[in-house]
Parts: sequence; C-alpha cells; structure tokens
Amino acid sequence: MIADAADRRPPGVALVDLSHPIVTGMPQWPGDAQPLRVVRLCDHGDGPCRSSRLELGCHVGTHVDAPGHFLAGAPGVAEMSPDRFCGPAVVIRPACGSTGTVAPGPLGPAVLDGVDLGGADFVLFDTGWSRHWGQPAYYASWPWLSEPLAARLAEAGLKGVGLDTPSLDDRDGRAAHDLFAAAGMVNLENLANLGSLPSAGFLVLALPLPLVGAEASPVRAVALLERTRRPIGGGSGAFGDVQVP
Ligand SMILES: [Zn+2]
Repeated sequence: MIADAADRRPPGVALVDLSHPIVTGMPQWPGDAQPLRVVRLCDHGDGPCRSSRLELGCHVGTHVDAPGHFLAGAPGVAEMSPDRFCGPAVVIRPACGSTGTVAPGPLGPAVLDGVDLGGADFVLFDTGWSRHWGQPAYYASWPWLSEPLAARLAEAGLKGVGLDTPSLDDRDGRAAHDLFAAAGMVNLENLANLGSLPSAGFLVLALPLPLVGAEASPVRAVALLERTRRPIGGGSGAFGDVQVP
C-alpha cells in the first residue's frame, strides 16, 4: 500500500500551489510561437504503458528566470544552487480598482512604504492579474515594476521577486530584468493563487529543472505555511479559496 504523501508532511505545515497548470495549446508570451504540447508516445490499451514527450519553451506558464536570461555571462538555472530558488517571502498588495486587479501600468516604489523586508528572500506582488490567465487580456497589458521600484528591490539583498503577471517589465521593457540580473536575482513570473497567502510568515519554493545551458525553466512553485495560521480573507477554509490538503 502506498502511503498518502500528506501523512509524511511535517505536522502543522500546509502547502499552497502557486502554479498554473501546463495545458497543450495554452496562451504564451506574445510572439513566442514555439510548440507547447504534451505528446503521447504510447498509452494504456494500445501500448505497454503511458509515455509522453514535452514540447515547450523555457518561459512557459509559471516559470523562473535566471540572471543569464538578460545578462551575458551570468548563470543559467542549472548553474545555481537550489537554495537560490527558495526562502522566506513577503507579499505586496498594491491597491486594486473595482475590477479586483491592479490597473495595468508601472508600480512605483511607494508600494514598499511600511513593508519590512528584513529577513525576506523573496518579494511577491499580488496584483490579482492571474484572474485573466487563459484569456486574451492576460497578455495584452499588465501591472509591472517601474525602474525606481526595481532599483529599490535590487538593493534589498533579495534572492528574487515574483509576480502574478507575464513579466516584471512591460511588454517592450527590460529595466527590472536588467537590474535584477545584475544583482544575481531570479524572477518568478506567471504565479497563481497569491491572493490566498498571508503577507508574510511563509516559505516560497520555485525549483527549476537543472537544464544545462537554459536561462529559465517552468516550475511548480509552492508556498509552505503553518497550518495553524488564521484563515485569509475570512474564508471558512484553512486558507481562503485554496484547498489545503
Ligand atoms: Zn521569463
């Protein structure tokens, strides 16, 4: 008999999935026209087993960028220790409009006012934008980090920054990518479920595949929280809308 994985989890620890599912044919970065599919090589019934092949770009769905994405000579994902992709995180929640999402456009450094970054390895921006995932609006425009905000984050001694949008920068920009790459930071993009997280007091893990020569990798990003924390948003579930196993 196979034991349930939850049985082996340390007591009092809950896990929240911060990743979008990878689905054949799903939307990807504008202009990225590479195949995106799970190809079945053989299957139950007409073969000895199910076996599949992946065809996808390294920046598909929820993914991590290494500094080598924008900085020549900087490391790719396989050249970095797994430790660089996990650590304590804080969540920034800029003011939302009536739509429940932050308006597309640059976020200024004022969003950090009053935020204690001490002890944090990652800063995650919950803009609500992931509610557009799978729709044309998602890649049309989005909230992004202004250069003054990115500069402050790059000086904060962080391992990385994450957003629930397609990119740190706007569609044609690169200021935040350049600043973070120079600081040796990683970028988490297309995160999901950030609205279910507390503002602090949890770990984020976004481990890339060790793809030698690659500057990015899709990840199954997760947050680890204390199960005993109070419900987020007053929901009756342990962590609001997210089902905690
Ligand atoms: Zn990327």
